[in-house]
Amino acid sequence: DLDAATAPLPSVSKSNVGHRWSDITSYATKKKVQSWFQLPNGNWELGRIMSTSGMESVISLPAGKVLKVNSDSLIPANPDILDGVGDLMQLSYLNEPSVLFNLQYRYNRDMIYTKAGPVLVAINPFKKVPLYGNDYIEAYKNKSIESPHVYAIADTAIREMTRGTFSFLKFGESGAGKTETAKIAMQYLAVLGGGSGIECEILKTNPILEAFGNAKTLRNDNSSRFGKLIEIHFSENGKISGAKIQTCKVVQCAEGERSYHIFYQLCAEKLNLKDVDEFKYLNQSNCYSIPGVDDAEQFHIVKEALDVVHVSKEDQESVFAMLAVVLWLGNVSFTMIDNENHVEAVEDESLINVAKLIGCNIADLSLALSTRKMRVGNDNIVQKLTLSQAIETRDALAKSIYACLFEWLVEQINKSLAVGKRLTGRSISILDIYGFESFDRNSFEQFCINYANERLQQHFNRHLFKLEQEEYVQDGIDWTKVDFDDNQDCLHLFEKKPLGLLSLLNEESTFPNGTDYTFANKLKQHLNSNPCFRGEREKAFTVSHFAGEVLFSLVFNFVIPIVFQRSMDDLTGPDICVTRVVYVTYDTTGFLEKNRDLLHLDSIQLLSSSSCHLPQAFASNILNQSEKPVVGPLHKAGGADSQKLSVATKFKGQLFQLMQRLESTTPHFIRCIKPNNFQSPGSYEQGLVLQQLRCCGVLEVVRISRSGFPTRMSHQKFARRYGFLLVENAAEQDPLSVSVAILHQFNILPEMYQVGYTKLFFRTGQIGVLEDTRNNTL
Ligand code: ADP
Ligand code: MG
Repeated sequence: DLDAATAPLPSVSKSNVGHRWSDITSYATKKKVQSWFQLPNGNWELGRIMSTSGMESVISLPAGKVLKVNSDSLIPANPDILDGVGDLMQLSYLNEPSVLFNLQYRYNRDMIYTKAGPVLVAINPFKKVPLYGNDYIEAYKNKSIESPHVYAIADTAIREMTRGTFSFLKFGESGAGKTETAKIAMQYLAVLGGGSGIECEILKTNPILEAFGNAKTLRNDNSSRFGKLIEIHFSENGKISGAKIQTCKVVQCAEGERSYHIFYQLCAEKLNLKDVDEFKYLNQSNCYSIPGVDDAEQFHIVKEALDVVHVSKEDQESVFAMLAVVLWLGNVSFTMIDNENHVEAVEDESLINVAKLIGCNIADLSLALSTRKMRVGNDNIVQKLTLSQAIETRDALAKSIYACLFEWLVEQINKSLAVGKRLTGRSISILDIYGFESFDRNSFEQFCINYANERLQQHFNRHLFKLEQEEYVQDGIDWTKVDFDDNQDCLHLFEKKPLGLLSLLNEESTFPNGTDYTFANKLKQHLNSNPCFRGEREKAFTVSHFAGEVLFSLVFNFVIPIVFQRSMDDLTGPDICVTRVVYVTYDTTGFLEKNRDLLHLDSIQLLSSSSCHLPQAFASNILNQSEKPVVGPLHKAGGADSQKLSVATKFKGQLFQLMQRLESTTPHFIRCIKPNNFQSPGSYEQGLVLQQLRCCGVLEVVRISRSGFPTRMSHQKFARRYGFLLVENAAEQDPLSVSVAILHQFNILPEMYQVGYTKLFFRTGQIGVLEDTRNNTL
C-alpha cells in the first residue's frame, strides 16, 4: 500500500500514534466499526462510523447524537471483546484513547493493575480495594489467579531468585501510590518468606521510617521526603534471612505544609511539650492534623514498632528527647546586646529545655548559638553573631540533629535486621523514591530530586531498550537499531567535572563570598552553550529534563525487520517519534546555604560535650563524614567550617550507592498513576492519566515489546523441551537443526520468530502455542 506509506501524517498524529489513517478509514467504513471521537473538553467518546465520504465522516455517538466530523479526528477503537484486557499488549489498536479507556474500564471495576508489556501499571484507588490479604496471597502463590498484581510480580521474583537478584522500581508522581505499592510487595514477600520472625521486623520498619521521613503535603497526606532501598535477603530454603535499608535524604518539608508526622505524634502524647501550635517550627503552616489520622494512636504504633526492631526503651526516650530539642530550638529567641546588631540568646523556657535535653549547660548553649570561634593567623578569636547569623546557626543545629537522628534510626534498624553471616546472594530489593517534581517555584530540593530521577530514568532506558537491542545485535538478529534518545546529555549537565551543575555548585559553596547571585552567574558563564541549560533573568536557570515527560524518544529510523512490516499494521513509521522534554526553572535562592548546610564547629563541639549518648554519637558521626579539614586562608576568612561534605555531594554519593545495588539486579518496573489530584476515590480524569502515561512512555514500551521478540530460548533448551514432539526422529541432529525442524513442523510463521547464533527469539504469545501442545502431549 504505497499511498498509505507516503501519505503525510494526519494532524492528530500524537494520539493516533502507530496508525496509518488511510488504512483505517477504509476498514472503518466497511465494517461500521467503533471509533473514538474527541470532545471539545479533550475527553474521548466512543461512537460508530455511519458513513465516510472524502475527508468527512458521519458518526453516531451515545444518546442518539449524530455528528459530521473530519475523518482525521476519528481514532479506531477496539472491538468490545477486548474491553478491559489485562495486558495492553493484547489490544488490536494501541492508541491513546483505547489505552485510556481500557485502564478506566478496569479501574471502575476495582482492577487497578494492568500490564503494559514488561511494566505493571497501578492506578491509585484512593480507597480500600478487595485485592489484598492472605487469601489473595495464597491465590497468587498457587497461581489460581492470573490477573496482573504486585503479588504476581513478587511471586515471579521469588521463584526466579535462584538466577540472581531482583528489584522493584516504581515510578510515579507524588501521591501516585509508590510507597503503598512497596508495602504491598513487602507484605507478599514477608508471607512467602516468613518463618524466621525477621519478616515482622521488616514490616515494622515502615511505620517508623514513615513517621520520621514522611509529611503531609498538598499532593499527598503521607508524602515520603526520603528515598529508600530495602534489600531483603533469603536463605537457600526460601526464608527471609535478613534485610538492609539504604536511604537517600535531601528533602526538607516545604513551607506552608505540615512537618514530619513524628512531631505531631509527639505533641499529641504531651511529653512535657506544649501544644503543636506553640512551636514555631510547626505553626508556620495552619495544618496540624490529617483527616482520618489519630496522631496519638500513630505514636503508639511507632513505639511498638521501635520495640520490635530492638530499640531499647531507654534509647526511645533519647530519641523523643532529641525531637523535643528540635522543637524547643525553634522557639529560642535572641535579644540585641549592642548597636552593631549583635545578639545573645534569651534565657527562657525554650533555651533551658534545650540545654537540659541535650545535657549541656545553659551558658555553653547560649554561646554556641550567639558566637563563633575563629582562628585568625595563630590567634583564636570569638566573634559575636548578628541576629540573622544566630538564627541561621540555630536552625542549622536543629536540622542537623534531625538528620542525624534519622540516620541513627536507620542504623539501629539495620543492626536489628542484620543480614545473617552466610550471604546467599539471593535478594529482592524494593526501591521507593520520590518522583520527579516541577512546581511553580523549584528550589534545591527539586534540583536534587530531579537529578536522581534522571539517573533512575537512565537505568530504566538502559534496561528496557539498550540491553534488549544489544542482545539482538550480539545474536546476529536482523534488527535495525531503535535510536532512542538517552538522557545522557542532561546527566552530563549535572555531573560533568569541573564544569557541571553539581561541581559548580560545590565550588561556589566553598567560596566564603559566594552568593546565590555569583553562583547563578557562574552557571550562565560556563554552561550557556550546553543545549540542556538556559540561563534565566535574575538568579534562575532552566534545565531541559527528560525524566519528567519523556522516557525516550524513538526517532525516525525505527524500522523493524523488513519481513514483519506487512503483518504488523500498527507498527513502524515516524509517528512513534515522541520527543517530550520538560523545562524546569530553578530559583537559586538559598541554593548555597542549603548545600553548605553549615553546622559550625561550635555546634558540633556543643553536641560532643553533651552528657547524653545520642548527641555525642551525632557529633562523632558528623565529624566522621567530614572531608579532611581544609586548611588555608580561604577557609578562615569566612569562618565557615566548610570541611563538611556538601549536601549535594552526600546526596550524589547515596544515590550512586543505590544505583550500584540496582545495576546488579533484574528490575521489574511498576508505574504508579494517580487518577485525580484530590486523593478521591472513583474519579478518573482522562487528561491527567494520559499525561502520566505519556511521561513514562507506556505506549511506546508496549509497542516495542510487541514489535520485538520478548521470548527467547537457547537452541539447546528449545530442542530439549520440544524435540520429542517431532514426527521424525531427530536424536542425532544438532540443537539448531532440531529447533528449525520443530518450527517447520508447527508452521510457526517466519515473521513470528528469528533464529540467532545461540538463541531463538519469539514474538509475544508464540511460545504459548508450543507449550500448549507440549502439555497436551505429556
Ligand atoms: P507516593 O509514594 O507515590 O507519593 P503513596 O504510596 O503515599 O504515594 O500513596 C498516596 C495515598 O494513596 C496513600 O496514602 C493511600 O491513601 C492511597 N493509596 C495508594 N495506593 C493504594 C492502594 N493500592 N490501595 C488503597 N489506597 C492506596
Ligand atoms: Mg511515597
